[in-house]
Amino acid sequence: MITGIELQKILSWPLRFDLHTHSNHSDGEYSPEELIKYAKKRNIDVIALTDHDNLSGIERAKKAAEEENIHLVAGIEISTLWHSNQIHIAGLCVDINNPVLKAHVEKQSVLREERAHAIAEKLENCGFKDVYEKTRAMSSEGGSLTRANFAAFLVTQNVAATADKCFDLYLTKGSRAYVSSKWGPIDEAINAIKAAGGIPVLAHPKRYDMNNNWLKRLITDFKAAGGEGMEVSGGMQNQAERQFLADLCVQHELLASCGSDFHRIKKYIDLGINLEIPEQATPVWRSPKFKLEV
Ligand code: AMP
Ligand code: MN
Ligand code: MN
Ligand code: MN
Repeated sequence: MITGIELQKILSWPLRFDLHTHSNHSDGEYSPEELIKYAKKRNIDVIALTDHDNLSGIERAKKAAEEENIHLVAGIEISTLWHSNQIHIAGLCVDINNPVLKAHVEKQSVLREERAHAIAEKLENCGFKDVYEKTRAMSSEGGSLTRANFAAFLVTQNVAATADKCFDLYLTKGSRAYVSSKWGPIDEAINAIKAAGGIPVLAHPKRYDMNNNWLKRLITDFKAAGGEGMEVSGGMQNQAERQFLADLCVQHELLASCGSDFHRIKKYIDLGINLEIPEQATPVWRSPKFKLEV
């Protein structure tokens, strides 16, 4: 664990941060080791692994980060529901052994497993065979299954060439294998992250299907519930949007985070690309709670 003066020394250098990424412990393509190796290749200095409702990849990532000489933040991306919207909250710098966080992750994992079986059943009704087993076999042991994992399974069944297309065909709201989610409210996720000493960060605010008035309501509720940061910089983004988010961030006295939400190499999305934080916002690594595993 790197904290205190040593951390301040490291953070005083101009560093490349990517604080939102996935491994195959949820719906990313790479194992934690492959992800860390790739981050090194992409010249990232500080990477956070933030798998969906899952911490099981962190130890592997930590070991790999030690070997590759790259800094790791222990993270998670927790799914929540707010006014029927699926809102994602990243937890950065969490203690992965904290019992409150572990209990919340266990609760989410039970919900994810129930939903995965329900999705698999619907896909079997569409004619696919052994859906749960085959999808599970494609991810890491202890990992969580998201709808994107089922989209990856559908690619192996030659449904379409890309996971995005398969997702659109079977897994979006209103399509044949859609199953609604019963995630907890935002304050539960925020409390669990804070109990583990972590920093709750509202993930990809512009990716929710809501207008700016609703987005401002969400940010207000997030802050009131104890939220501490929001992502203002997410790779595939124009300057105006980033500026808009940086202004909101300052208005709501939140810290600014940046992350590619990397799942796999894709057109326009890559680790560490285009992740600068506008000057008026305070970066999340200025938080006294910020710490590095390695
Ligand atoms: P879940 O949390 O299980 O509902 O799955 C959400 C994940 O599915 C997200 O983290 C994305 O990786 C992926 N996803 C969400 N929407 C889409 C979409 N329209 N097309 C492709 N992937 C998507
Ligand atoms: Mn995902
Ligand atoms: Mn997300
Ligand atoms: Mn994500």
